[in-house]
Amino acid sequence: MADEQAQAEPGPRPILPILKLQPKPHLEGVKCGSCGALFLDVKRVACSKCGTPGKLTPVPLSDKGKVWVFSVVHQSFPGIKTPYVTAIVDLPEGISVKSNLVDVDPEELQKNPQKAFGMPVELVVNPVAKDRQGNEVMAFQFRPSKN
Ligand SMILES: [Zn+2]
Repeated sequence: MADEQAQAEPGPRPILPILKLQPKPHLEGVKCGSCGALFLDVKRVACSKCGTPGKLTPVPLSDKGKVWVFSVVHQSFPGIKTPYVTAIVDLPEGISVKSNLVDVDPEELQKNPQKAFGMPVELVVNPVAKDRQGNEVMAFQFRPSKN
């Protein structure tokens, strides 16, 4: 049954390696075991702060953050609905993530940008497509935090 071992289990797939779906959807970074620096890029082989190779271990990141900056996008690729809001979200771990904001009114944010800066947001994960095997492809966005 080599085929079964080579093929991953059927089921949802994260759109990016930093998105983990189990045990519940979260973003994953790596932490340097030498200096403690955190990075969002899970494929990194050495710490870019202290240069130590091979000491980076995965760490789960908070699903809550704050909007640092945002931009309302009015033109995009064909098939992408506009306007939408793209943002850089600061996580409490000191890492910034670029993502889209959902459950917000782009026009309202453009009129009152001060409402968006520092706004508490939380991670949401939704299916956006299916891969060739029919597995759902999951993407992440942030929405205004409920608490
Ligand atoms: Zn380091």
